[in-house]
Amino acid sequence: MFGKVLIANRGEIALRIQRACRELGVKTVVVHSEADRDAKYVKLADESVCIGPAASSLSYLNVPAIISAAEVTDAEAIHPGYGFLSENADFAERVESSGFVFIGPRPETIRLMGDKVSAKDAMKEAGVPCVPGSEGALPEDPKEIIRTAKAVGYPVIIKAAGGGGGRGMRVVHTEAALINAVTLTRSEAQSFFGNPNVYMEKYLENPRHVEIQILADSFKSAVYLGERDCSMQRRHQKIIEEAPAPGIAPRHIARIGERCAEACRRINYRGAGTFEFLYENNEFYFIEMNTRIQVEHPVTELISGVDLVQEQIRIAAGEKLRFKQRDLNFRGHSIECRINAEDPYTFVPSPGKITFYHPPGGPGIRVDSHIYQGYTVPPHYDSMVAKVISYGDTRDQAIRRMRIALSEMSIEGIKTNIALHQELLQDARFVEGGTSIHYLEHKLAAKGEVKKTG
Ligand code: ADP
Repeated sequence: MFGKVLIANRGEIALRIQRACRELGVKTVVVHSEADRDAKYVKLADESVCIGPAASSLSYLNVPAIISAAEVTDAEAIHPGYGFLSENADFAERVESSGFVFIGPRPETIRLMGDKVSAKDAMKEAGVPCVPGSEGALPEDPKEIIRTAKAVGYPVIIKAAGGGGGRGMRVVHTEAALINAVTLTRSEAQSFFGNPNVYMEKYLENPRHVEIQILADSFKSAVYLGERDCSMQRRHQKIIEEAPAPGIAPRHIARIGERCAEACRRINYRGAGTFEFLYENNEFYFIEMNTRIQVEHPVTELISGVDLVQEQIRIAAGEKLRFKQRDLNFRGHSIECRINAEDPYTFVPSPGKITFYHPPGGPGIRVDSHIYQGYTVPPHYDSMVAKVISYGDTRDQAIRRMRIALSEMSIEGIKTNIALHQELLQDARFVEGGTSIHYLEHKLAAKGEVKKTG
């Protein structure tokens, strides 16, 4: 096992990784920006290094500063968390060429999966079902593009090969709009992601977002840890996640999970990863793979009993997976609510000082958060300040426990979306389970209409 790990991230995930290290008996170095200097989790780490000013481009994305922090502190490995540099193949390469271990997949795997066209090709080859669409990137020839769209069938979606964060996508309903949409998406793709390649998929009208968690070691052993349903989204940002996905038969999950594990063995995958699927009419369609730990990993931890962050570290340290698929059992139900510092209805971010904080607790409640009374939420980063995770023997119990937790939780001084979560936890369609990725947007739009007319 490593003696010391550097955590190249901030906020709740920096604290989460720190806890995993401490349990493993590994010392921690946390790097931070000037804006995060006084955070409690920074003080809790064995060592901390300031790597630059508040702006992430100068701190959390500052590769040379992070590498030198690892050098001066004698860290052996670097955990990138999620966001920031976690899926940056060049960073992973720099980490390894500087003599440190990158806690994640090999740089070439990150690169392969970071290009959605090559990722889809690799998955198709491994027998993972994908959304029907173009063979690879779209060609220049408009006639060819029109022919492809006809074969796929409208509506189609044009997506940037290098895309991420829900950007660089365009839905097309008619042939008349097709070429213009492709041209626009291409130029966006070039300016956002530095890669003009775009591809085409059938646009699924009412899917759910269901993803499979996997773990793979360096010895070609891979397992899946069940699924998560992350359909409750606004602008492609997940708000509530749960495991298991309501109403999908376990043997159906086992079938797709085994495909994902097999794909990992084929591409020599190492570490934790997530296969994201759209799920419609009882079919799974692969859209992309995330080569890192996800925000919503706790719901999987609660139903599987596996500490995913500790397993990431063990795998990076060269250990073999400690369990086989048959050793894994998924029990009960878990739900996560992402608590954001934002107005619950306009979604405008609300950074500032927390004047009062009372976290929830009790049976089946876990809170992953770095905040406390007196903490100031900086305006420079993502607005998520806490994750409340509930666990119950049944989905019904997990929902009841979450409702209680949300009613106990109090954060004053800043606005949060707790009220929106409370409303969703009472929503009849959510309680029923299985809503599509458009449900929340439609609900919010309908409410807006009522407000306007009433
Ligand atoms: P990103 O990496 O930007 O998150 P994804 O490929 O994961 O891009 O797609 C983001 C979201 O866009 C999906 O969660 C889904 O809501 C929507 N989307 C992507 N592809 C399709 C498709 N073929 N049909 C319908 N919706 C899609």
